[in-house]
Amino acid sequence: MYAEVIVDIAHTAVDRRFTYRIPEGLSVFVGHHVFVPFGLGDHLKEGFVVALKNTADYPDVKDIQRIIEPYPVLLPEQIALAEWMKESYHCLFVDALRLMIPAQLRGMRVKEKKVRTVKLAEGVDLADAYEALKKAPMQKRVLELVAKVGAEASLPDLNAFYPNCTASVNALIKRGYLVEQSETVFRRPDKLRLHTPPYALTEAQTAAADAIRSAMEEGKGDVLLLHGVTGSGKTEVYLKAIEDCLRAGRQAIVLVPEISLTPQTVGRFTDRFGDRIAVLHSRLSPGERFDEWRRIRLGLADIVIGARSAVFAPVDKLGLIIIDEEHESSYQSESQPRYLTGEIAARRVKTAGGALVLGSATPSLMSYSRALSGKYRLLKLPDRVAGRPLPAVEVVNMRDELLMGNNSIFSDKLAERLSECLGSGQQAMLFINRRGYATFVSCRSCGYVLKCDNCDISMTYHKTESRTRCHYCGAVKPLPKECPNCKKPFIKQFGIGTEQVEEAVHKLFPAVKTLRMDTDTMQTKGSYEKLLSAFHRGEAQVLIGTQMIAKGHDFPNVTLVGVVAADTTLNLPDYRAPERTFQLLTQVAGRAGRDNLPGRVVLQTYEPNHPIVRFAKAQDYESFYHYEIMERKKLLYPPFSLFLRVVFADRDETAAQRGCLEYAKALEAELRHSLGKEGSQDLLLLVAAEAPVARISGFTRYQILVKLLRTKRLKDAVSTAATFHDAHKDVCADVRFEINPPEMF
Ligand code: ADP
Ligand code: ZN
Repeated sequence: MYAEVIVDIAHTAVDRRFTYRIPEGLSVFVGHHVFVPFGLGDHLKEGFVVALKNTADYPDVKDIQRIIEPYPVLLPEQIALAEWMKESYHCLFVDALRLMIPAQLRGMRVKEKKVRTVKLAEGVDLADAYEALKKAPMQKRVLELVAKVGAEASLPDLNAFYPNCTASVNALIKRGYLVEQSETVFRRPDKLRLHTPPYALTEAQTAAADAIRSAMEEGKGDVLLLHGVTGSGKTEVYLKAIEDCLRAGRQAIVLVPEISLTPQTVGRFTDRFGDRIAVLHSRLSPGERFDEWRRIRLGLADIVIGARSAVFAPVDKLGLIIIDEEHESSYQSESQPRYLTGEIAARRVKTAGGALVLGSATPSLMSYSRALSGKYRLLKLPDRVAGRPLPAVEVVNMRDELLMGNNSIFSDKLAERLSECLGSGQQAMLFINRRGYATFVSCRSCGYVLKCDNCDISMTYHKTESRTRCHYCGAVKPLPKECPNCKKPFIKQFGIGTEQVEEAVHKLFPAVKTLRMDTDTMQTKGSYEKLLSAFHRGEAQVLIGTQMIAKGHDFPNVTLVGVVAADTTLNLPDYRAPERTFQLLTQVAGRAGRDNLPGRVVLQTYEPNHPIVRFAKAQDYESFYHYEIMERKKLLYPPFSLFLRVVFADRDETAAQRGCLEYAKALEAELRHSLGKEGSQDLLLLVAAEAPVARISGFTRYQILVKLLRTKRLKDAVSTAATFHDAHKDVCADVRFEINPPEMF
């Protein structure tokens, strides 16, 4: 027998199957992690067996040296998935395979944890033993304890009862009263349990759960989009769907955008399903991650909860995948291979004969358009549970405040609502967007925003250069001294930080305790959980934060949400800015009034009449969708087109520039050739220019931005570009190719 092996070296030159002989007496299966001699010196390298065969294509085939883990670490389905990823994402086979296993498994950097255990030896007469141990009281106590346990007892457990009893245990083994064994243990992350009673589902919840169950039973790999307003009980639908999935003897994967930001969701799952859950995310220790993965692989867990990468979990009886808050950008991988989590999930449930659920209060434009066109099934939860109203949203025009002489962070309205809320012992959340800090340029008097002439995208202020720039086409404009629209001198770069908001709260309400949550205060492990539970316990009345506080938290006592500047994200230089702003505003607003107390939202903005602000005020997703999809169509932005980006970086400025320009010229010719006459209009844009962030740590950066119309020729065009890239990535020190770049600068 022979095996086809993918050697664990990430290099294009060795990205193919190598044949090895399976020596006599070694049983090797597809998916085994093995050592193989490789290259000229026959150095031992790790590899993965991806297929078995009876013959070899050439005579002197080397032998597999040995298997590493006793069980195959990859399922056949995962190997097929990796192969598909190689084609679709133009990545290395091995890069895709590596996503399916814990990183530390490679190079054997993590091992199973064994603990010593002891139990009573066969045929010990306890009465005799206690008599014999009269002079050794510690040994006697330990023996009594083990006898009482009546099963294996671990040394750590015994030591917890009787500190430093290991010597006594060893003596008891020597005397023949105890026998030693060693047992593998699983390192388990601590999990919060959050008790919520299993509710009687509402009619809408029942209908949704039923639809999910029948889609799973049909097993055609259907995708269902669960569109439910904030607080409509989506999580409860997931819980029910998973119950049905387990009852059918199948397994489920639940994905959340960023697990440490959603401890409450995890807590509710743990409470309902206990030990059948495994959790996979980046904040686990290597040992915990390895053991949780192994519990899944060995069939000891049937529900996996995790962030993006958990979509690759090794479940072999997959029935259901749920992607919560499906619109979140964290579902797109930021490193090679740049996969889309939803795409991987859809493929897995199709292969496994299950169903995929995408849930959100604010679905991505892409998902919603697929639901409307019938590609996905649309499930709706239009109301909050228990007849609770959506929070009342008040929009405050900050320009009026300025005219009235109020140039503080808080409008009179927000200050008043804060005072009411805090006065009645309730809690408030204040939200700002740090990413909008001092980036765009606008007029405080008339709301005018400085935009690029070619792109309809706001210009970004670059402090170091004291001028503004378009992050799409590279156009440059000086910072105007007066507003080009109203001629007043109030035009300037815009942005507020969390610290300033905190100061302003203390100034207004000196006695009030606040908590601040942003990337600066959240550096250490567990800091999210600590801060959130402090707020939950009411140790502070006001929580101030960036987009982190927008996610699915459920604080029953929060009745006021203040959005300090609603338009900061609206004017980011990205075509996705309106969509992201609407999502963010709706999500933060959704934090208010989730329990029995009704909620209020105050939304401060300089653009009260901006359609996005109006849709957010009304919490009207449908209208938002129809408006924004038309905007995208007008400008041929995705989903009507697709962006490719190639970034060139080099310490030598001319090398980066020359590399970029040569590459661009050749790429354009190649693309035009591939698109042919029929597709000559498909190439909407191909610009090579200095990158918006022109220097990063001593490297000069250039970039090519390509915009392609979405037609039936698109897939081939992207392949052409990717293949071209493989052959031309040496034009300067660092060349990166991105399909659908998550950021444009
Ligand atoms: P979503 O995920 O849609 O924002 P949740 O699932 O968190 O909503 O539900 C919102 C709140 O309503 C939670 O506190 C939840 O425990 C409660 N809830 C959910 N379903 C029901 C129900 N059928 N009856 C009563 N309360 C419910
Ligand atoms: Zn531009």
